[in-house]
Amino acid sequence: MATRDSFIVIGAGEAGARAATALREEGFTGAVTIIGDEPHAPYERPPLSKTALTDDAEPQAATILSPERRAEHGITLRTDTRVLSIDRGAHRIALSGGEELAYDRLLLATGARARQVSVDGLARDAVLTLRTFDEARALRSRLRPGLRLAILGGGFIGLELAAAARARGAEVTVIELAPRLLARAVPADLAAIVAARHAAEGVTLRTGTGIDRIETAEGGRTLVLSNGERIACDAIVAGIGALPETDLAARAGLALDNGVAVDAHLATTDPDIFAAGDCCSFPHALYDGRRLRLEAWRNAQDQGSAAARGMLGAREPYAAVPWFWSDQYDITLQIAGLPDEGAETITRDLGDGARLDFHLAEDGRLVAASAVGPNGRIARDVRLGEMLIAKRAHPDRAALADPAVKLKGLLAG
Ligand SMILES: Cc1cc2nc3c(=O)[nH]c(=O)nc-3n(C[C@H](O)[C@H](O)[C@H](O)COP(=O)(O)OP(=O)(O)OC[C@H]3O[C@@H](n4cnc5c(N)ncnc54)[C@H](O)[C@@H]3O)c2cc1C
Repeated sequence: MATRDSFIVIGAGEAGARAATALREEGFTGAVTIIGDEPHAPYERPPLSKTALTDDAEPQAATILSPERRAEHGITLRTDTRVLSIDRGAHRIALSGGEELAYDRLLLATGARARQVSVDGLARDAVLTLRTFDEARALRSRLRPGLRLAILGGGFIGLELAAAARARGAEVTVIELAPRLLARAVPADLAAIVAARHAAEGVTLRTGTGIDRIETAEGGRTLVLSNGERIACDAIVAGIGALPETDLAARAGLALDNGVAVDAHLATTDPDIFAAGDCCSFPHALYDGRRLRLEAWRNAQDQGSAAARGMLGAREPYAAVPWFWSDQYDITLQIAGLPDEGAETITRDLGDGARLDFHLAEDGRLVAASAVGPNGRIARDVRLGEMLIAKRAHPDRAALADPAVKLKGLLAG
């Protein structure tokens, strides 16, 4: 790789920051530039729906790439700058300030944006979303005892927000269109445990109903649900999922498929442009090439590193076991693998209310492990489950169910 090469990372988030660092760790000596449209250096998003809302101190963005680290690695960061277009033929990108930059290889790490609601009677800015540090700060300033908060969407972000808002004394209602919470990614039994905990904490849960309209009057708004129920509220937050940020890729004529479509090496349909993190979908080697798009912190990190290696010419297919966690109150939910690949579930009781489910495919292969409970109770076993999944293990069912059997022993088998 010639030293004059210029690699540009579009998107100053988790995947972009990780990729830039990995380029240096892998020995790349050319120019590395990260371009991000937010006013901040890359920062961690997971705290935004957790400690940034609950801590007494004013939140600070948890910076991933400090100025010292950027200087140490020779990484140039341009914030407040949006990449407007990519000229693939000329290998140039156009920036929001009017400038153009030449690149040899590009990484799209543009992430995802919060899906917006469209409901009759509702101005777009009347509903808050929670994706960026600035949005978290704005939301936090609204949370106070007695605030009537309506959360649209019973997924991870909505439920973490519900827990945080309860901690700050708000009256919380969660409205979910699907018949149950966490319907997209979490097995029903585990989601029921989480739902019970929210109900016990005083959150009002409404599932299987959407919003028909919103009436605005002095003293607040009233949500009229499609089941006819009326819910008075002072603030509304939508946590109804995220859309991959693909505009740039689409305009550049790159293939899309529920995100920027990449191959097993995270290359797009242009061999000089790679993609990583929430913005891309990729074929997963562990699941027969099933195309996935993950919105998960560790995936963004792992793919950032893998894409950096791909940009430097490595040909290793991306095969990290998907892993996600969510903290709500004092419990943690962790999912390794893909539960929906399972045909059978074996439950292991971990004590103290903690539970670990193993999901086996029809041929007995372990395809996922999902758990809920105090973090200290579940983290180690989920990690071992993840290692079994990576090994494509076919563990003994009775051993999986028996808490006395050490999972580490199954790994050796
Ligand atoms: C509130 C919240 C809580 C979360 N909690 C958890 C959790 O508990 N566990 C977990 O596993 N995951 C969690 N996640 C998910 C995790 O944070 C994401 O998967 C991860 O941040 C994705 O990283 P990324 O780099 O792909 O995208 P992002 O972090 O979204 O970064 C992409 C960046 O690119 C910028 N950008 C986009 N287009 C352009 C352009 N054209 N020009 C310049 N810049 C551009 C965006 O503004 C953004 O700054 C959470 C996410 C949120 C929002």
